[in-house]
Amino acid sequence: MGVGAAPNIKLAKKAGIPCDPRTGIEVDEYMQTPVKDVYAAGDCASKFSFITKKPCGIRLASVAAHEGILAANNMLGHDVKNKGAVGAFSTKIGDVAMGAAGFTQHACEKEGIEYIKGEFVGPDKHPATLPNTFMNMKVILLFNKQDKTIIGGHVLGGDTAAEMVNIISTAIQAKLKVEDLYFMQVATHPLLTGSPIAYHVVRAAGDAFFKFKKL
Ligand SMILES: Cc1cc2nc3c(=O)[nH]c(=O)nc-3n(C[C@H](O)[C@H](O)[C@H](O)COP(=O)(O)OP(=O)(O)OC[C@H]3O[C@@H](n4cnc5c(N)ncnc54)[C@H](O)[C@@H]3O)c2cc1C
Repeated sequence: MGVGAAPNIKLAKKAGIPCDPRTGIEVDEYMQTPVKDVYAAGDCASKFSFITKKPCGIRLASVAAHEGILAANNMLGHDVKNKGAVGAFSTKIGDVAMGAAGFTQHACEKEGIEYIKGEFVGPDKHPATLPNTFMNMKVILLFNKQDKTIIGGHVLGGDTAAEMVNIISTAIQAKLKVEDLYFMQVATHPLLTGSPIAYHVVRAAGDAFFKFKKL
């Protein structure tokens, strides 16, 4: 849980660059401030959501690094746009890894976005009798009910949960639909993943796919 962080806008304020104590230094899609040739990136810069395009408070090192790469490329004249913060993160408590990308169910409800949820629980190795198997690795995927695109996902499991969140983050950014993920081809290995017929993201998408069929 991250609470109480505020953007450090002291330097920008002193330089007369428009900024807000809550949202940070004003930047456009190119990470440029309203002052030509002055860029801002990271926790100090204002953010908007990849999904709603509305201002948001997602402040992560991964977002900061991404914005830094965008800002540096734009300084070199490469004209690359920020598409907004997806909000992908992972963490580990004891032996349990967990993470999420995009919207939660709560965020969907707050924004009035109707969604279909797909989920799957299963071992992260196959067969599950292998040593160090995380028996109940869980994936939840949320799809926009209107256009079937993935807008969020959560993973809880062993160490592979972190990279599974990155699959979900990539899918959100590529605006993949439920069938793209259900009929996706993946790599599996007994020591590294769930079985080919029980790969978590694919099966969670399958759960949602059949819920869409019943609408
Ligand atoms: C406990 C904790 C755990 C976290 N874990 C994660 C995680 O697991 N994953 C993740 O993605 N994010 C995590 N974060 C968030 C992440 O640390 C921040 O989003 C990230 O560091 C932001 O990077 P930044 O470069 O924008 O700012 P910072 O890392 O804060 O760097 C800004 C730098 O600018 C310097 N500075 C400020 N003013 C001036 C000035 N006037 N002149 C010169 N230098 C100046 C500061 O001293 C600082 O070194 C965590 C944050 C905390 C607090």
